[in-house]
Amino acid sequence: MTRITGKTKLLGVIGHPIAHSLSPLMHNAALAEMGADFVYLPFAIAPEDLEQAIAGFSAIGLRGFSITLPHKQTIMPLLSEISEVAQAIGAVNTVWRTEQGWSGTNTDAEGFLAPLRSMHRDWSQSMAVILGNGGAARAVVAGCVELGCAEIHIVGRDAQKLEAFSQSWNCSFGLQVHAWETLPDLLPRADLLVNATPIGMSPHIEKSPLTSAEADRLKAGVIAYDLIYTPNPTRFLQQVSDRGGVAIDGLEMLIQQGAAALKIWTQQSVPVDTMRQTLRQHLGLN
Ligand code: NAP
Repeated sequence: MTRITGKTKLLGVIGHPIAHSLSPLMHNAALAEMGADFVYLPFAIAPEDLEQAIAGFSAIGLRGFSITLPHKQTIMPLLSEISEVAQAIGAVNTVWRTEQGWSGTNTDAEGFLAPLRSMHRDWSQSMAVILGNGGAARAVVAGCVELGCAEIHIVGRDAQKLEAFSQSWNCSFGLQVHAWETLPDLLPRADLLVNATPIGMSPHIEKSPLTSAEADRLKAGVIAYDLIYTPNPTRFLQQVSDRGGVAIDGLEMLIQQGAAALKIWTQQSVPVDTMRQTLRQHLGLN
């Protein structure tokens, strides 16, 4: 761990709860490897204390922080500048201090994209199906737009939320929303299938967003991406692997969104391998 001196600069993560966060572990491992004089701390901040906490961060000279649930949207009015990608997603996950105040962006789409970009595929004929219409699904849509997917379909369980989700985008790209019952018809055409719901997350590890019959309808060679990283693999990814599909878990997204944030704060290149190894070891995956 970094030796803390009178000059050590502070970074952190805010959320409520925060005790489960893997970010302090991966960021402090990276900072130690970089020899950067920063320390990254967890801050449990209740929603009603957010404004006061951010003012406190200004007062103590915190350099930057990550944001997790439930503050990703409510932080936005407290920032002096918000990047285009964060405005499109409607949420901020990374904040840093400037002379004008706090600036924010969202590195989740970049994190989501990293494993897909490394496949060096042409996505221009691809159809993406995204399960869920919450905060993470928004970063996934931004990522799929960036990839250049031909069609982007969102599947959700609440008609009103789906409609609001659909309306919230400047839809110059082909975004379509569907009730969950439509899923069996979409599956045979999906090239990329993303689980952006918590279905199957530990401790409910026996759950999957797909029934066995639905999994049987998957296109050969489908790329399935579960944003969940515990368990690893999830039942959803197991179903896809068993049928010859390509499975991507949420750990790389977590690592890459963190690496992008650390680069913003330190302005240095970031040891992504160290972050990956630290988390894999912690999760018993090595
Ligand atoms: P969220 O904002 O609460 O959204 C969850 C979405 O899942 C909502 O659309 C919700 O539907 C839907 N959903 C929940 N339970 C469902 C069920 N039983 N059946 C059908 N739909 C259901 O959460 P989020 O922040 O988007 O996170 C979603 C998942 O992504 C979580 O597992 C989270 O851990 C993961 N995640 C991973 C990373 C990473 O770096 N790997 C980053 C962010 C999030 P309603 O809107 O109808 O309630």
